[in-house]
Amino acid sequence: MKRTITHLADGRELFYYDRRDDADRGAVDPRDLPPRPPASQMRYDPLMDEWIAIAGHRQTRTHLPAADECPLCPAHPASEIPSAYDVAVFENRFPSFSFAEGDFPDPGGLSAARPGIGRCEVVCFTSDHNASFSSLGPDQVELVLAAWADRTAELAALPGVEQVFCFENRGAEIGITLPHPHGQIYAYPYVTPRTRHMLDVAARHRGGNLFADVLAAERKGPRVVAANEHWTAFVPAAARYPFEVHVYPHRRVPDLPSLDADERAAFGPLYTGVLRRLDALFGVAMPYVAAWHQAPVRYRRELAHLHLQLFSVRRAPDKLKYLAGSESAMGAFVNDVAPEEAARMLRESSITN
Ligand SMILES: [Zn+2]
Repeated sequence: MKRTITHLADGRELFYYDRRDDADRGAVDPRDLPPRPPASQMRYDPLMDEWIAIAGHRQTRTHLPAADECPLCPAHPASEIPSAYDVAVFENRFPSFSFAEGDFPDPGGLSAARPGIGRCEVVCFTSDHNASFSSLGPDQVELVLAAWADRTAELAALPGVEQVFCFENRGAEIGITLPHPHGQIYAYPYVTPRTRHMLDVAARHRGGNLFADVLAAERKGPRVVAANEHWTAFVPAAARYPFEVHVYPHRRVPDLPSLDADERAAFGPLYTGVLRRLDALFGVAMPYVAAWHQAPVRYRRELAHLHLQLFSVRRAPDKLKYLAGSESAMGAFVNDVAPEEAARMLRESSITN
C-alpha cells in the first residue's frame, strides 16, 4: 500500500491510498477556491449535559450535483481529487469541526460556548461513481480499512481530539448530498453522548467485559446473520431500527488500527455479504447508516470493543421508518420489526440478487 499526501487549492490535505507502490498522484488542483470557512461553534446544552455544534457555513454546501460535476469523481475541473485514485481521503470543504480560527465569547454559566475544534474528512471508497460499498472486492475493502485505520491513528493524535468516528451514510432517504460511494470521518473535541453512555454502562457491568459478554451471548442465539472465523454479524436483541446489524471482531480490540492482518482480510467478505443481503431484502437499494464504534482517545478506553453498527430506516418496500415524536423528542424507540424476524429475513435474503 502506498500513501501519498498532497494539498488542495485552498490548503486542505488530500491523501491517496493505492494498492500499487508506483502510483503517481502528483496532479495539482487547478481550481480557484474561496478561503476555508471559519470554525464552527460548540454550545453547551445544560439540560442534557451535551455539546451541540453550530456550523452555519454548512448551509451552502454542495447538494446532489449533476453526475458530470461529481466532486468525488477524479481528475475533472470540478473535482476535489485531481488524480486518479484507488481510495482517497480529504478534509471536508464544509466541516462541522476544524482547526480554523474562531473567536466566540464564552458567556459561561449555563450557556457555555467554545470553538468547534476537530476535523472532518471525506473518504472515497472507489473512483467508480456507480459502485456501492457492497460491490467492492476484498482487496478494495482492505484498502478502505487501511485508510480508516491510518486516519484514525493520526486524527486521535491531534491536540484536543477525544474521539474518531468513521461512518457511511448511504441513500437519499438518509440525507446524503453526494451519491458517489463515500463515507466520512469526524474527529470530535469531546466524547459523543452515545459512546459516553455505553462506556459508563460498561463500567457498571459485573462479570466480564459488557461488549464481549453481549457478543458471546449473541453468537449462541437466534439473531446471527453471518459469521466467519474472525467476525460475527447479528441483529441486537433490542434493535432500534427495522433492520439493524452489529458486526463485531471476535477479539476485543479498541479500534480499527488494532485489527491484525487476518481480521482485516476477513472483514470485507463478511460485511459486503451482509450489505448485499440488506439490498436483496426488498429488491431496492437500502438507505443505511454504517457507524464504527471505536474507543475514545482517553475516556474509558480500556472498556471499549470495536464494532460496526449498521441500520436501515426502510421497513418495507415502500415504507420508511421516520424518527418522529417518540424517537426524536423523547429518545424512546419503537421498532415495528421483531429482531428475530429481521435476522431470519436477512439470513434468507438471496445475496445473488
Ligand atoms: Zn462521482
